[in-house]
Amino acid sequence: MVEMEPVIGLEIHAQLKTKTKLFCSCLVDFGAQPNTHICEICSGQPGALPRMNAKALELAAKAGVALGCKVNNRSVFSRKNYFYPDLPNGFQTSQLDPPICQGGELSIAGPDGPKTIHLNRIHLEDDAGKCIHDEKRGRTLIDLNRAGVPLIEIVTEPELNSSTEAVEFLKKLHGLLVRLEVTMGRMEEGEFRCDVNISLKPKGSDKLGVRSEIKNLNSFRYVGQAIDFEIKRQTALYESGQGVLQQTLHFDTARGETKTLRSKEEAHDYRYFPQPDLPVVTVDEQLIRELQAGLPETPEQSLEKLAALGIRDEVAKLLIDRRGALEYFEQALLNFNEPKRLSTLMTELLLPACQKDAIAPTESLLTPKLFAQLAKLIEEGTLGRRAAYELFPELFQSGLDPKELAQKKGVLQISDSSALEALAAQIIAQHPKEADKYRQGQDKILGFLVGQLMRSSRGAADPKRAGEALEAALKAQS
Ligand code: ADP
Ligand code: MG
Ligand code: ZN
Repeated sequence: MVEMEPVIGLEIHAQLKTKTKLFCSCLVDFGAQPNTHICEICSGQPGALPRMNAKALELAAKAGVALGCKVNNRSVFSRKNYFYPDLPNGFQTSQLDPPICQGGELSIAGPDGPKTIHLNRIHLEDDAGKCIHDEKRGRTLIDLNRAGVPLIEIVTEPELNSSTEAVEFLKKLHGLLVRLEVTMGRMEEGEFRCDVNISLKPKGSDKLGVRSEIKNLNSFRYVGQAIDFEIKRQTALYESGQGVLQQTLHFDTARGETKTLRSKEEAHDYRYFPQPDLPVVTVDEQLIRELQAGLPETPEQSLEKLAALGIRDEVAKLLIDRRGALEYFEQALLNFNEPKRLSTLMTELLLPACQKDAIAPTESLLTPKLFAQLAKLIEEGTLGRRAAYELFPELFQSGLDPKELAQKKGVLQISDSSALEALAAQIIAQHPKEADKYRQGQDKILGFLVGQLMRSSRGAADPKRAGEALEAALKAQS
């Protein structure tokens, strides 16, 4: 059989970070008691008129600007008709043509270097409510708190070719939208979820195969598992000569398998038509310019900037990926302009500690300024590396001044040379035999004497300078 290649296109739903719903002023609040955030609009009462949430529109446009889309000045809402108990209007308010954004792209690291994935569109729509199945009493209850919550749907072109690429794309998109505060992105709450369209085609062919669509995946791991399972299932179908049927599937997370939800024949005819109760959606040039100007650096730009500071790629990626790490680093840098030393110390000490406590560096009691002071103390030789590492957990928990704490613990290094000289003289006096051996040419004995000096200073001396002080004292006395 010819070698087959997977083709994947994603439809991602991200819940917009707004206080209120898309067409009414009910609060977006999932933790609430069922049906406590509903009104005549979001519960679909006859005659109720929707009013557009301006913040939702701005966030959708922001996502578009960040992803290099064409943001349309004018777009319209349509009714997407279907019947389901959690859809009180009998239609979802969505955008068909034209949507708020068209085109756009996001690159990922492909198998042979960077790979650009093109977007087809981004549109605005409202979410449905939730059915709560009460198996015990054999009934289903409806909670409409989620009905009318604003979403954007981002649709990619079918350009992804493996589960790895799809997951990387999703992680990158998720990171970007969270950083932009377009969405809170809590996947376990369903705030970022996707439908995966997948087909196989002969490698090199440009004709797409018949696809299946796996609905509503809300974890990166499930996306990867569902794609890999589906690739195997479709491959087997082709190999047995049966071919793939166009289907909508559901991923059974417990079994790690896809299951049929409906076939092409059972597919909905949504009978889209313009929503007459809402005006044309307008986005003016001024807003687009403001959004553009307010965009944070892209990860690529941050990477370039860090590389110019001489920071290694792996370290730079850590700083970029961890929430608040880059910001912290930049603030620390203002107080101690040694990018390499600072970033290394951050990855060795600060980031692991933050990860353990599940906080962002910017939320740590140890401020960037104090962290910079710690790095400076090490750099000057005032505080030994070992002592600094031992001191760190307490510094991190307390947010105390590093120098004061080191002083209090008596671990500051003896950098004052007269103190070192005195110590060296004392050690030589205590070990006359070893001192003689050294003078007779047994250089190795110096190591022993340094060890003695370190011990009597309780680690507060710098070993290199201790060695120098001992050598000088031995020579002076011979
Ligand atoms: P629908 O809205 O009916 O699901 P679309 O044509 O809008 O269909 O496509 C939805 C998604 O499916 C897009 O992400 C697109 O890239 C992807 N897609 C379309 N055809 C294929 C195919 N043959 N194989 C894989 N993905 C596909
Ligand atoms: Mg679809
Ligand atoms: Zn409402």
